[in-house]
Amino acid sequence: MKQQALEVLQSKFGYKSFRLQQEKIIQRILSGQDTLVLMPTGGGKSLCYQIPALLLDGVTLVISPLISLMKDQVDALRLNDIPAAYLNSTLTNQEQTDIIRQLQAGQLKLLYLAPERLMGQESRFVDFLKKINISLLAVDEAHCISQWGHDFRPEYRMLAEVRKALGQIPAVALTATADRLTRQDILDKLQLHKPEVFISSFNRANIHYHVAAKRNSYGKLMQFLEKRQEESGIIYVLSRASTEDLAQRLTEAGFPAKPYHAGLDRDTKEKHQELFQRDEIRIIVATIAFGMGINKSNVRFVVHMDLPKNIESYYQETGRAGRDGLRSDALLFYSYADVMKLQRFVEVEGNEQQSQVMLQKLQEMATFGELRTCRRKYLLNYFGEEAPEDCGSCDVCLSEEEKFDGTIIAQKALSAVARLEEKFGVSYVIDFLRGSKSEKIWHQHKELKTYGIGADLSKKEWHRYMDDLLHLDYLKKADGQFPVLQLTEKSWLVLKGEEKVMLIKVAAEMEEATAPEQAVPVEDELLRVLKSLRRELAQKENVPAYIIFSDATLHELAAFLPIDRADLQQISGFGEVKIKKYGEAFLQLVNQHVRTHGLDSRMPAMRTKRQKNRRKEKRTDTKAESLQLFQQGKSVEAIARERDLQPSTIYSHLGFYVEQGELDVTALVGKEKIPAIEQAIRTHGDIALSPLKEQLGDGVSYGEIRAVIGHWRRKQRR
Ligand code: ADP
Ligand code: ZN
Repeated sequence: MKQQALEVLQSKFGYKSFRLQQEKIIQRILSGQDTLVLMPTGGGKSLCYQIPALLLDGVTLVISPLISLMKDQVDALRLNDIPAAYLNSTLTNQEQTDIIRQLQAGQLKLLYLAPERLMGQESRFVDFLKKINISLLAVDEAHCISQWGHDFRPEYRMLAEVRKALGQIPAVALTATADRLTRQDILDKLQLHKPEVFISSFNRANIHYHVAAKRNSYGKLMQFLEKRQEESGIIYVLSRASTEDLAQRLTEAGFPAKPYHAGLDRDTKEKHQELFQRDEIRIIVATIAFGMGINKSNVRFVVHMDLPKNIESYYQETGRAGRDGLRSDALLFYSYADVMKLQRFVEVEGNEQQSQVMLQKLQEMATFGELRTCRRKYLLNYFGEEAPEDCGSCDVCLSEEEKFDGTIIAQKALSAVARLEEKFGVSYVIDFLRGSKSEKIWHQHKELKTYGIGADLSKKEWHRYMDDLLHLDYLKKADGQFPVLQLTEKSWLVLKGEEKVMLIKVAAEMEEATAPEQAVPVEDELLRVLKSLRRELAQKENVPAYIIFSDATLHELAAFLPIDRADLQQISGFGEVKIKKYGEAFLQLVNQHVRTHGLDSRMPAMRTKRQKNRRKEKRTDTKAESLQLFQQGKSVEAIARERDLQPSTIYSHLGFYVEQGELDVTALVGKEKIPAIEQAIRTHGDIALSPLKEQLGDGVSYGEIRAVIGHWRRKQRR
C-alpha cells in the first residue's frame, strides 16, 4: 500500500514526495482506523483523505462546511481526471439527479457534502447512502463540531449519528485549529474509535513576519506594495468603513483593490471574492469577515493595518498567505494606541470572566507587537510548541540592530518622567526632552533643568527608545484612561547609576527582509508569459488560475526550464493527466524563451538542489558536536556546561540521533520510564511538550521527554 500511495501522489497529483506526516496519516487511514489530523493551513490536509479515497474500494464522503471550498476542491480533482462531485444547494435538480445516478453506478471516488444534507427531512438521503459502498468518512474543518472552537456549526453535531447509521465506516477528522479543548471535543463528539492523533508543527516556515510601527502606515504600505506589483494579498482593517476608504485610496494610487466586509450585499461580496480568486484583482481590503472560504494558494502577503484582537486570529489570518509553500510576507502595523482602543471592543458585557480572558489575549497580542525577540518563536511557544531562538525570517531576527550603552539616554528619559511627576504621556515627555518651544508645554515646565536635555536626538529616535524602555520595564504606562508614563522599580536602579541600560540603535525604518538566497534565478519574463497562459486555460476551464497550476509550479518552470516531457515529470504539480492536457503548451513557451535568450535548461541544477535539501535535513553541526561529546562519555549536564547551552538543548540534539537510529534511547532515559512517556505521547501528540510534562509530572524531565519523542518517531516510521 505504501508504494501505491506514493505512486498515486506522483502520477495523479504530480507531486514528488509526501509532506510532513502525510504518508503516516495515509497509511493509518488505509488500515481502516479512526484518525484525527491537526495540520496548519496549507499543510496539505486534503491529500490525506484524497489518496486513500482513490486506493480504497467505494466512495469517500467528505463533509465540508463551505460551499466555495467544495467547488474548488472538486474542480481541482476533476482537472486531474479524478471522479469527484459535490452536492449542495447551488446545484439544479437535474445536476443532483445526475450525481445520485453516478453514485449508484459506483462511478464516483469522492463525494463532498454540506452537513445540512444529512439532517432533518434529509434523513432519506442517509437511507440512500446506506445502500452505497462507502469506504471512508472525512470530516474537514472538524473544529466546527466544538463550541470551544472559533467557528461552531450546530449541523456538525449530527455527524456522529450519521456515522452510526452508516454502520461505523472508518473516519478521519481534519482541522487547523489545535487547542486542546477543541481537540478533545472533536474526539468526543465524533465518537472516534481508538483514534490516533497526528499533530504537525504549526510553524509556517515560508511566511516571514514583520511588524512596523503604526506611524505613517499608509506611506509604508505604499512602499510595501510597490515592491509587490504582481502579487496577490489581503489587507485587513478593523472597520467596515475603512475597508472601503482604503480600497478606494489604493485604487486611485494605482493599486486596484476591492473591499470586503459583512455589511456588503451578497452579490458584491461574491463578486469581489471571485475576482480575487481568479487573479483579476490582486488586492482585497477586508475585515475579518473575509477569509474562511478562501482557498487561494498564491496569496503572497497579508497586511494588518490594525491590531488583531488575539494571537489566534493573527495566526489564522496571516496563515492565509503562502499555502503554496512559496515565500510570503505578513506585515503588522503596531501601536500601543490600538491596544487601548481594542480594550473596549474585546470586553464582553455582563461576563466579567470572559472579559478577563479576552483582555489577557489582547495583552498577549500587544506583547507580540513589541517583541525584541524572535516573533516566530513567540507564536510557536504560544501554541505550546518549542522553537529555536532565532528563525532567521522575522524582522527581529533579520535586523542588524546594534546594541549600545544607552544608560545616559535612559537616565534623561526617566528623570524627565520623574520631573513631570508621572503625569504626562509619551509625546509630551518627548517634546519636553527636546525642548520644544510649543505652547503645549506648560510654562513652568520650561523652567525645569531637564527641559531640553534630549535635544540631540530626533523625535523618531526618542519614540523608539521610549518603546524600548517600556518594553524593558524601565518605564510603564498607567492603566486606565490616560496612558501616562510612570517609573518602575527598575527605573530607580538606573537613575541611581546602579544599572546599565542596553538599547538598540535606531535603524532605518522597516527594512525589508532580504529574499532567501535563490541559487537558480527565475526568468521573470517567462514567468509572466506562463501566467498568462495559465489565465487563458483557467478561463477556458472556468476555474481559478491556481487550480490549473500553483504559483510554485510556474516558478519551477521559469527557474529550471524543462524542455521535454521527461523533464516535466520532475516539476512539482505536473501529474500524468496535466502533462497530457497542458504539457505541450507550457513546454512550447519554455522552449521559445530558451531559444530566444540562448539559455540552457537548468534541470541538472534542480536535481542537485533536491539532493542538497535532503542532505541539509540530515544533520547540522551543532547537533553532531553534542553527539560527539556524549559518545566520549560526557554527561548531558557536562556537555551543556562545556558548550554553554541548556541541558534541554543538548537533549534535543541527542533526541535527533535517537530518531535517526544512531543512538539508543536507553542511553538517555531509564527503561522503566519509557512506557509512561510513550503513553502520554499517544494521547497528546509529539509536538507540544508542555502537556506531556504536565501529565508526567516531576519524575520525568523535559530532556527525557525529548529523547523518547525521538524514539517514538523512529518507531512510527518503521
Ligand atoms: P490545507 O487543507 O491543509 O490547508 P491543502 O490540502 O489545500 O492544505 O494543500 C495546500 C497546497 O499544498 C495545495 O496546493 C496542495 O496541492 C499542495 N500540496 C499538498 N501536499 C503536497 C505535497 N506532498 N507536495 C507538494 N504540494 C502539496
Ligand atoms: Zn525570528
